[in-house]
Amino acid sequence: MEMTFSKSQSLCIDCGLCCGGLVFEDVELRDAEEALTMESLGLGVEEEEDGFFLVQPCRALNGKQCRVYEHRPECCRRFECLLLKDYKQGVKSKAEALDLIDEVRDKMKSVDKEPARRVIRKHFLGWLD
Ligand code: SF4
Ligand code: SF4
Repeated sequence: MEMTFSKSQSLCIDCGLCCGGLVFEDVELRDAEEALTMESLGLGVEEEEDGFFLVQPCRALNGKQCRVYEHRPECCRRFECLLLKDYKQGVKSKAEALDLIDEVRDKMKSVDKEPARRVIRKHFLGWLD
């Protein structure tokens, strides 16, 4: 049987950049119960005064994909980066989106991560430099 993917899955499955530590320093978890679930799956969790956080880069990231996808936390389910929104709304084609993902990956090979972060800020987060 052929698998079908939603538009977001079809781009994210070739990306995974928001789980690799360059986009977020940590990911806020809903509550202690969700934190316990993530710990039981072997993921890094930190407790701070203001809540529980999933440590980034995320231990569940396997290549470009999430190995706990069916059990991923609520904030991972909700998050859509600007690039994904642009792709879903037809502002960017899949080829343009994949080119930007490749550009970040290419720049990440450099010791200086700032050029990769700059592309992420502009195209994935919509921040003005
Ligand atoms: S950075 Fe954007 S396109 Fe890439 S996996 Fe995350 S949400 Fe999907
Ligand atoms: S749990 Fe999965 S979707 Fe969430 S940050 Fe980790 S790898 Fe990404």
